[in-house]
Amino acid sequence: MNVLWILAHPEPRSLNGFLAGEGQRALRAEGHEVEVSDLYAMGWNPVVDAAGYGHDPAERFQVAAAAKRGYGSGALSADIRGEQEKIDRADTIVVQFPLWWFGLPAILKGWFDRVWHQGYAYGLRGPGGEWLGYGDGFLAGKRAMAVVTMGGPAWFYGERGIHGSVGELLFPLQHGTLFYAGAEVLPPVLFPGADRFTPEDAGNAAKELRERLLAIPDTEPIPYRKQNGGDYDERFVLRPDVAPGSTGLGAHLITCTTTRGSC
Ligand code: FAD
Repeated sequence: MNVLWILAHPEPRSLNGFLAGEGQRALRAEGHEVEVSDLYAMGWNPVVDAAGYGHDPAERFQVAAAAKRGYGSGALSADIRGEQEKIDRADTIVVQFPLWWFGLPAILKGWFDRVWHQGYAYGLRGPGGEWLGYGDGFLAGKRAMAVVTMGGPAWFYGERGIHGSVGELLFPLQHGTLFYAGAEVLPPVLFPGADRFTPEDAGNAAKELRERLLAIPDTEPIPYRKQNGGDYDERFVLRPDVAPGSTGLGAHLITCTTTRGSC
């Protein structure tokens, strides 16, 4: 594998730093290439601005259009272009972060905002002129997997747990971003209760992470429905006969066949 590992944690001696080191070592030991974007260590700028896309600050800044233009004319800033080149070289993307306010740390969100712009990551059409998305796109043929530590215990994140189910909390990243871009998204590697980890817990977590990483080529992806796979109508709404009566985020899983409520 050629892995791009994106890490968002400010402290290399953290649990996340430890797990990142263990995981990357395990991959390299098996002969895999690993390129790392350690966002804090790089001093990554997460803020979308005109300069990043070579846009004239005197002109009104329409973000998506300016990004697409800058990409086409080779005017992107070196940091954005550098990340895109890493993505292009990779066949596997690992996104590792602590869950902060039920989502990505801002530095990581800003990595997606700036790097995954129109013309590069979305707004693309296939050979027949069809819009690409959800199962096809610039990451087609690549695999992606999130590695997430969480303070809350596992049961808070169960189907009826107070924090909500992990599949739904990670839906914007896994479905709306990675799958939308065409990647096969593997089930996440989750470490709940991380704030109370003992060194033994951390060792067990590292073992689980190593196993999951080395199994990436053989792991079944999350079975999201493809945009152009026949389950959606021309407005990209689920056809009435697909999981009829089912609503909510789970309805976008092939495994959802229920006829009432959410999957
Ligand atoms: P660290 O703080 O570095 O370590 C966690 C524990 O592991 C420590 O006790 C440490 O001693 C121990 N440890 C054991 N072995 C090792 C080792 N080898 N190396 C390093 N440490 C080790 N949680 C939620 O569930 N939901 C939220 O929405 C949420 N929002 C948050 C928002 C913010 C802004 C913050 C700061 C935290 C939030 N949390 C939330 C908690 C957060 O997810 C956890 O604090 C985080 O996942 C723990 O990972 P870490 O790498 O920062 O751990």
